[in-house]
Amino acid sequence: MLLRLLICCSSVGLASSEDFPHLSHLSHVSLRYFCSKQFIRSVADILASPIEYLKGVGPHRGDLLKKELNIFTFKNLLEHFPYRHVDKTKISPIRDISPDTEFVQVAGRLSDIAILGERQSKRLIATLRDSTGTLELVWFQGISWIEKTLQAGAEYLVYGRLSFFQGNPQITHPELETFNRSAPVDKYILEPVYPSTEKLKAKGLGGRQIGKLTKQLLSSLTEKEVPEILPEVIAKQLKFLPRFHAFNTIHFPENIESYNQALNRFKFEEFFIAQLRVGMIKSQRHRYSKGIVFGHVGDLFNTFYSKYLPFELTGAQKRVLKEIRKDTASGRQMNRLLQGDVGSGKTAVALLTMLLAADNGYQSCLLSPTEILAKQHYAHFVDMTKDLSIQVGLLTGSTKTKERKKILAQLIDGSLDILIGTHAIIEDSVQFINLGLAIIDEQHRFGVAQRAKLWSKATIPPHVLVMTATPIPRTLAMTAYGDLDYSVMDELPPGRQPVLTVHRYEDSRSHVMDFIRSEIEKGRQAYIIFPLIEESEKLDYENLMKGYENVKAYFPEPKFWISMVHGRQTNEVRETNMQRFLNKDTQIMVATTVIEVGVNIPNATVMVIESAEKFGLSQLHQLRGRVGRGSDKSFCILLTSIKLNREARERLKTMCLTNDGFKIAEKDMEIRGPGDIAGTRQSGMLDFKIADLIRDRQWLDLAAKMANQLLDNDPELNLSENRMLKDFLLLQHGKTQWSKIS
Ligand code: ADP
Ligand code: MG
Repeated sequence: MLLRLLICCSSVGLASSEDFPHLSHLSHVSLRYFCSKQFIRSVADILASPIEYLKGVGPHRGDLLKKELNIFTFKNLLEHFPYRHVDKTKISPIRDISPDTEFVQVAGRLSDIAILGERQSKRLIATLRDSTGTLELVWFQGISWIEKTLQAGAEYLVYGRLSFFQGNPQITHPELETFNRSAPVDKYILEPVYPSTEKLKAKGLGGRQIGKLTKQLLSSLTEKEVPEILPEVIAKQLKFLPRFHAFNTIHFPENIESYNQALNRFKFEEFFIAQLRVGMIKSQRHRYSKGIVFGHVGDLFNTFYSKYLPFELTGAQKRVLKEIRKDTASGRQMNRLLQGDVGSGKTAVALLTMLLAADNGYQSCLLSPTEILAKQHYAHFVDMTKDLSIQVGLLTGSTKTKERKKILAQLIDGSLDILIGTHAIIEDSVQFINLGLAIIDEQHRFGVAQRAKLWSKATIPPHVLVMTATPIPRTLAMTAYGDLDYSVMDELPPGRQPVLTVHRYEDSRSHVMDFIRSEIEKGRQAYIIFPLIEESEKLDYENLMKGYENVKAYFPEPKFWISMVHGRQTNEVRETNMQRFLNKDTQIMVATTVIEVGVNIPNATVMVIESAEKFGLSQLHQLRGRVGRGSDKSFCILLTSIKLNREARERLKTMCLTNDGFKIAEKDMEIRGPGDIAGTRQSGMLDFKIADLIRDRQWLDLAAKMANQLLDNDPELNLSENRMLKDFLLLQHGKTQWSKIS
């Protein structure tokens, strides 16, 4: 069980609460005991009713709601929030439609209903005509069913997203209902529009029908059945609508102000509950896990710090070291994620932490994702500690048998203090006498299973520090890794100049080469990176070779020398090429993304990325992080073809605008984030129904703050004012799968 705990706690894959076995004491079995009787009866009984029991649903539609929208219960329907509201009193004249119009509601007579095209392009079209103009309606799916329901000559109220086809306005898959101009307008003016699917629409469960079901459900419920869950102080302080009232309002608001009030309430609630959940997991772990104690800072650390550390630590490095010191001295096992932008100096933090372990008589290991990186760390550590009485070893896949035997023996007899290596460290034959600390560098390259093996190398689990430069938006990290202790190094060492990034089209490649030449003449070095797309390895390889020949033509030997590094080479060849570049024997490094991570060659000042449009934002940022590591001005040139789609353009623009990894991560999320046409809110990352990690950041911050305060006062939520909250958490079966945990 402990093993699983460790895996999930340091997993950078999105943590799912299903994986937290240490919550076993909150299992389903104890539900009855924990939940107040009144709560169970009211909420569990009515809101937990299967959706097919709702009037107007029945087994057939019930099945569809489950399959298509994951609506299983009354509660699920209540929480199926509208994604927008239509002002139903407003019907636009068709003439007023302009290219800027996004959604529109029009009313008119239907004519010219016809099925056109064959197979893929088969479609149903109809014309809607009001007194001012005409509009085309188009369907691609459910054609025959929809055709049957349409009545030529009848009046319809039509709502949908507008598009233009050959200059003419049209609505694809509109919502429509028969329209009677003289009928009284509904009591509510703002009509909710719900996410739905084509299948549901075809069965008469479009957005509007879902609204009707919801309305009916709400009118059958009372405040008692939808009780408040937020502690009174919080609800009062934030002036939230009471929960039941808020449900009514978010679906059927009387005006936009009260809608926003309800919306904010649920955004806060969603973040607050999520934060409470991870917060409880974290505090459980803190209270129950046992850890090695690094009780004092000793000679190794102090001597190194005062005598050999070649620079003053940045404020961020100092802060993180303090956090680590506190963790490792606490008697609990440290599980810390250290996130620092490329070049922020994570290596120094790693080295100092390893010295701290050695000062306390414990061994430590550092795992790197690549051999190149492991060797670089090893050389650096040996160099840094050469005057200290500490033994550093290197173990990788290419370590020779004799050397390997020696290292294994030293680990067991305790004469080796620090082991640096690749996944070779994880093998069963590698045993330590007293491993106290494991550091994982650039962890996204490491699988969960591999990490698990590491923990089994000591009886008391070693402290774990996971270092990553993969920028994760702060907001996301807080939520996804809220159960991990989390440090950020948001400061670069002094004297760094931001890398100047520009975007150029391929036709100016010769200018770019001229620029590289001018930098080389100043004694600098350059990277030229080619993309690697896994589906066509052969093509990538040919592309790389062509690129290499091309570069060679610009930079002929013997005046210039080029290194090439790619995945098809043997370790040795790759290593030699890398080493030559490191020793400045070569001025240019042509490579695939194998050098993406960690490599530190401060003399390299130019990074050219070929076909930059094929890379994702965070990868571009990682690659750029290979330059700008010294005090010389560095440059990143993004070469692309002329043809670029909107997203690629946005990525390139972002790269040119900022060097800040966190800003880039947020932009990345924004570009790839939520908001698709059908209106389903799939964030793709974290499944929030209504809150948005980017837009609603201030609510997340507030929710996190308040959740933590609450847990500080009442870690198990046993105070009477927090009782409803606890019951609510326990009842969230779907999300937490309490019953699976045992
Ligand atoms: P990363 O966080 O990307 O792993 P590194 O640890 O490789 O970054 O550090 C990048 C460069 O910055 C190295 O050359 C390192 O020596 C240097 N460096 C680290 N910390 C400092 C500091 N406090 N002051 C000056 N230079 C530093
Ligand atoms: Mg690094």
